[in-house]
Amino acid sequence: MTRATFPGGVHPPETKWTAETDIRPLPLPPRLVVPMAQNLGAPAVPTVERGQAVARGEPIGKPDGFISAAVHAPSSGTVTGIERVIDAATGRTTAAVVIETDGKDRPHASLPQEPRPWQSLDGDAIRQAVADAGVVGMGGATFPTHVKLTPPKGKAIDTVLANGAECEPYLTCDYRVMLAEADKIVTGLRLCMRATGAARGIVGIEDNKPRAVEAMRRAVAGADDLDVRVFPTKYPQGAEKQLILACLGREVPTGGLPADAGVVVQNVQTACAIAEACVRGQPLIERVLTVSGDAARAPGNFRVRIGTPLAALLAEAQVQEGYEALILGGPMMGKAQFTADLAVTKGTSGLLVFRRAAVYEGGPCIRCGACVRHCPSWLNPSRLSILGESFLAGNLDAVDTAMEFGLMDCILCGACAYVCPSRRRMVHLIEMLRGERRKALERRRERERAQAAGIQREVEKVAD
Ligand code: SF4
Ligand code: SF4
Repeated sequence: MTRATFPGGVHPPETKWTAETDIRPLPLPPRLVVPMAQNLGAPAVPTVERGQAVARGEPIGKPDGFISAAVHAPSSGTVTGIERVIDAATGRTTAAVVIETDGKDRPHASLPQEPRPWQSLDGDAIRQAVADAGVVGMGGATFPTHVKLTPPKGKAIDTVLANGAECEPYLTCDYRVMLAEADKIVTGLRLCMRATGAARGIVGIEDNKPRAVEAMRRAVAGADDLDVRVFPTKYPQGAEKQLILACLGREVPTGGLPADAGVVVQNVQTACAIAEACVRGQPLIERVLTVSGDAARAPGNFRVRIGTPLAALLAEAQVQEGYEALILGGPMMGKAQFTADLAVTKGTSGLLVFRRAAVYEGGPCIRCGACVRHCPSWLNPSRLSILGESFLAGNLDAVDTAMEFGLMDCILCGACAYVCPSRRRMVHLIEMLRGERRKALERRRERERAQAAGIQREVEKVAD
């Protein structure tokens, strides 16, 4: 029987070398560097000072608005400073609270001693617990989870999808979490259903993870409103829109959100964090991630505290000196870094280290059409990349033209770049155009604000 999938996509080598390695807890490092920018939206604002003693789970950063997330001390110790560090996701700098750990891992007094029955929580209580715990999307998107659990007015949610696709090559952390914590994922899924009013919960998994399918099927056995669906292994099956299409046959409209298709999608590790927040009152202070790549002699899946310096992970995975490439995330959508002087954040799903960096110059488009055939978003990536080059050559209208060609529908999956025989830098050009679009919008808003202020002054003059 043909199983549901999405159009386009690619089949990169899976290279899931760490699939059969158990999750290993990484020893507590002597120093934690906890960035305030760990979520999509506004970074948190530090609430602690140099010299202050902190306990595990104590709030150290408060959200700066609704689309923001709280940050907590990952272990006990003393704050040695608030420093500026590089935000690996954007390349900009952000404030980080630096904690010298005391090795005691003393819990904060506010953390509950006993678990509470999640069945007693209503939607508001679930959203509050999730917001208090600083939960964000752990698949890499880092969107604040309490916002996702607050569907826009007039949008009915009928289905919650727990995303266990993990379609990026090399990464196996979600796979191991599904094997180890299937029941917790189901509790998180049920909490999301309760918060959004959804009547149905589905776990989506690619068919290259039969043991995870088995574990999740055992965990949902006997529940009429829960299901596990298996999809052909194809990248980017784990992208929200592609998962929704494959699972439910629904399209998320252009510029829309999964809520527009009646769906909320949560990564399986996020589901665990939701369960931890609601049942045990635990903030998000650790995660499981994969360290892999041909420069790692002991690759594996590690449970690490947020703020752990990458150097500790590189040492634990026995990474050889002299490696050329370091990527945070998977090889398709992850970001190459120019320094290892970074720390693990809530969205760090993987750390890949390679002996040789693959650097391509990129040639002209030969109009082969491969990128169009493989784009999972029905776009013309060749056209978008040519518009990017045109913008760089001085054609400022190229951004508006790219909008007409679906610039904002691109999910930055990199499938087009993967198949391009000319090795064109498609994603870089598309990201650049999107950045220019954002800047243009900001400039327009600024102009409108200035105009409104000018009109107000004129009105006041007349009134005087
Ligand atoms: S990066 Fe964008 S344009 Fe390229 S294949 Fe993915 S969705 Fe299509
Ligand atoms: S795959 Fe590359 S060369 Fe072929 S049409 Fe797309 S951009 Fe052009």
